[in-house]
Amino acid sequence: MSLHPPNPGLETLAAASREMPADPIAAILHVLREGERFLVCSHSRPDGDAVGSVLAFGMLLEQMGKRVDLCTADRIPAIYRRLPGAGAIRTVLGVHGHYDAAILLECDGLERTRLHGLEPFFLINIDHHITGRAFANLNWIEHRAASTGELVHRLVKAAGARVTPEMATCLYTTVLTDTGAFSYGALSASTFALAGELVVSGADPIAIARDIYFSAPAAKVMLLGAALNTLHLEDSIAWLWITQQDMARTHAAEEDCEGIVNFALGIAGIEAAVFLRELPEGHFRLSLRGKGRVNVAAIAEKLGGGGHENAAGCTLEGPLEPAIQQILAELRGAVATSGEESRGGQGM
Ligand code: 5GP
Ligand code: MN
Repeated sequence: MSLHPPNPGLETLAAASREMPADPIAAILHVLREGERFLVCSHSRPDGDAVGSVLAFGMLLEQMGKRVDLCTADRIPAIYRRLPGAGAIRTVLGVHGHYDAAILLECDGLERTRLHGLEPFFLINIDHHITGRAFANLNWIEHRAASTGELVHRLVKAAGARVTPEMATCLYTTVLTDTGAFSYGALSASTFALAGELVVSGADPIAIARDIYFSAPAAKVMLLGAALNTLHLEDSIAWLWITQQDMARTHAAEEDCEGIVNFALGIAGIEAAVFLRELPEGHFRLSLRGKGRVNVAAIAEKLGGGGHENAAGCTLEGPLEPAIQQILAELRGAVATSGEESRGGQGM
């Protein structure tokens, strides 16, 4: 693979900024303005924030007159395929070509993209996860942002670019999905102000909600039924799972697992919920959710994953029973500690 000659300005910037620069927006815009061709990508199994922020970033670069390629390692879930420009995101496993920089949205490391060949590029990392890491040449991590899309929106404004209705639709989607339809995450008055601004710019909140929350394939609801059959409760912890057999029987796709964990978390008195999904090779993908007392990001990180305080994920080895016992041991400990803290007046 032949690479574009590195931009001399970028090398100095890279050396200076393994941590966050004082003004990450200015530093990122500098790189964007200097370069010609960019790659924008996000994590594997892309969610609403990944897809929406990649698309909006691509639109920003196009407005700046740049050439841009968009890619993820997994295909875009059906509910996000109607987003403007979604057809331009390529599903690839390896990256080749000449790029002045690769922009990684929502990733705590190269591995999270599951893309090969990113190493040689000048890397820009924009993220809002509490477990986010300054792994790139240029890093901008803000835990208080409701979505990575919120950060992209700030960049768009700072660049003096126009928030088109298409861009607003993508950015609204990032905020809507990462806050669970405005019910958790880094939600504040400014999130609603941002959502309002995006609606003024042309995002249609009803059409977007319909595409995301009221367009499930029947297989997804059948899969939910299978998961609910496994629901287990112990004090304030709930867990449920899906096997490969369930996936085959219901003809469900991987993306149909999204949101199942919320049915367990939605039970009164439950503080932490886990959804386990069996992978083809027998490992389990875990979705962890909390209501505020338990920091599930800390647990996920300990087990090799990451995420947000109230929504995180990781992968554990199978078979099912030891995986459940492993995560339950962590959650029991966390719930017990949180109980002590709240008795001490520091809890929710
Ligand atoms: P989900 O349960 O919806 O797959 O993920 C919940 C949150 O945790 C998302 O913000 C997602 O990016 C993050 N997350 C899930 N799995 C992993 C993982 O293996 N590593 C890291 N770093 N983050 C994860
Ligand atoms: Mn996000």
